[in-house]
Amino acid sequence: MHEFPEVQAMIRQACAQAPAAARITRLKIVVGEASGHDPRHIEAHFAEASRGTRAEGAALEFIREKLAARCAACGTEFKADAVAFACAGCGGTELVITAGKNVRLAGIEAE
Ligand SMILES: [Zn+2]
Repeated sequence: MHEFPEVQAMIRQACAQAPAAARITRLKIVVGEASGHDPRHIEAHFAEASRGTRAEGAALEFIREKLAARCAACGTEFKADAVAFACAGCGGTELVITAGKNVRLAGIEAE
């Protein structure tokens, strides 16, 4: 199984957010649709990486995030369709991705 630093970082972050909790029971994870990561893959890595930490056995809740972009030419922000990747305002193709490209921790529940 290859390295998955994002998962390790999220486990560290979850534990840091609940320093007094005995156990992390749930992690809410935003998965960008263009992140290249699939929730089942993240789950498998999580099971491995959380072993021996307070997050071991926690439930994972995945929140899909749509790809969003901002046009470099006119500044229009819009939800991007990966198939037709052009500005919804002016048709420009020089876009800055603003969401949907990564995986991040959105929240936790602990006890
Ligand atoms: Zn534009």
